[in-house]
Amino acid sequence: MSYVDEIYERVVNQNPGENEFHQAVKEVLDSLRLVIDANEEKYRKMALLERLVEPERIISFRVPWVDDKGQVQVNKGYRVQFNSAIGPYKGGLRLHPSVNQGILKFLGFEQVFKNSLTGLPIGGGKGGSNFDPKGKSDREVMAFCQSFMTELHKYIGADEDVPAGDIGVGGREIGFMYGQYKRLTGLYEGVLTGKGLTYGGSLARTQATGYGLIYILDEMLKHNGKELAGKTVVISGSGNVAIYATEKAQQLGAKVVALSDSNGYVYDKDGIRLDIVKDIKEVRRGRIKEYADAVPGAVYTEGKGIWSIPCDIALPCATQNELNLEDAKALKANGCFAVAEGANMPSTREATDFFLESGMLFMPGKAANAGGVATSALEMSQNSQRLSWTFEEVDAKLKDIMVNIYAKAADAAKRYGVAGNYVAGANIAGFEKVVDAMMAQGIV
Ligand code: NDP
Repeated sequence: MSYVDEIYERVVNQNPGENEFHQAVKEVLDSLRLVIDANEEKYRKMALLERLVEPERIISFRVPWVDDKGQVQVNKGYRVQFNSAIGPYKGGLRLHPSVNQGILKFLGFEQVFKNSLTGLPIGGGKGGSNFDPKGKSDREVMAFCQSFMTELHKYIGADEDVPAGDIGVGGREIGFMYGQYKRLTGLYEGVLTGKGLTYGGSLARTQATGYGLIYILDEMLKHNGKELAGKTVVISGSGNVAIYATEKAQQLGAKVVALSDSNGYVYDKDGIRLDIVKDIKEVRRGRIKEYADAVPGAVYTEGKGIWSIPCDIALPCATQNELNLEDAKALKANGCFAVAEGANMPSTREATDFFLESGMLFMPGKAANAGGVATSALEMSQNSQRLSWTFEEVDAKLKDIMVNIYAKAADAAKRYGVAGNYVAGANIAGFEKVVDAMMAQGIV
């Protein structure tokens, strides 16, 4: 059996029931076969893959808090510190009822390669809880965040592990967690990113993942003789990534016609009015359904189905495995020629294979949504220097980073004879740097 297959089997056997983690490992290892086969003897002797697929540490803890009725609630909390070969652990915190150890391991594993691709000195981690912030009062969210941080603060630090936001964690949650960290440790340090601008946050961090997605999409299109201006775009989700992907796509002349949330999707043939979406989602924390009430001509449809809307470009920006083979075929049949993933692993393995085999342009999340973590690393740099850069400075650095990520993925794919396969390219480029650092640091 090949080393890759052996390791995959080991991961499945040793991590039962963690399906998303198995899926992420398989996708990465399959696309690394050429590199691994060429170095098999050396890697086997160093047990390189065994070490790569095993998190350095997983912290799991209980999070008790009191709700508005005076009832004590208990959630599960986690931090997966996956790999620190190239820098302190870095990766978001997710608050969503679906969160479990397997999902955080998949996200942490992906994060290792993504962070490497940014070219910045950050290792990979991920964390979160099965707490659902939806429908909770601000006081309840604060009570949860303070309890979560009371445990987590023992394991993180500006040079050790620097969490950020993810699904369900925005400025409000980061603020509550930061306040509690400072209170417990007495340290005013860059231990979290995505902070508010008055207490160490970076301009452009809020926009970074969505803007970065559009910058790399634009780069991929240009290198393939196409352009974004004038194209029709469908974007799933209506959270942080989806909103700022819509904003930048519109600035560059594209027409975004659909957005969604976990209840359903809206279609606006005249182009989404982002001021209304921001008011619903960022101010009122409402449902996307309300868009159709506010905009004449817009249509709301309950349930899944957003990928049946005809478009040139599709940007899944909600959650993992939200786009399956049937959706991929529908997109292609309706004329879609490019897909870039704002979310982490939103396309199933079958959908990804279909995109690659049918000759569509496809940029995987690992490369496409790396702008968020890259800008988090820029926030860390500003915190260390006790300086704040302007929006334009941060945005220009973000753009440079995304253009470089495109170049690295495209170059690695070419070097290994699979030009245009950005899945393989991103995985190989990310892997090379991490492996170099792991080999240099001995058996740790
Ligand atoms: P938000 O919480 O701001 O928004 C998430 C959006 O996706 C919401 O519209 C939400 O709908 C929808 N959604 C979440 N879960 C589901 C589900 N199970 N089914 C259908 N829709 C769902 O999160 P972000 O925008 O920050 O994150 C979106 C994706 O981007 C995630 O995969 C995340 O890991 C990834 N990402 C985020 C980065 C960041 O900087 N924020 C960086 C890199 C990647 P509802 O409100 O109904 O739940």
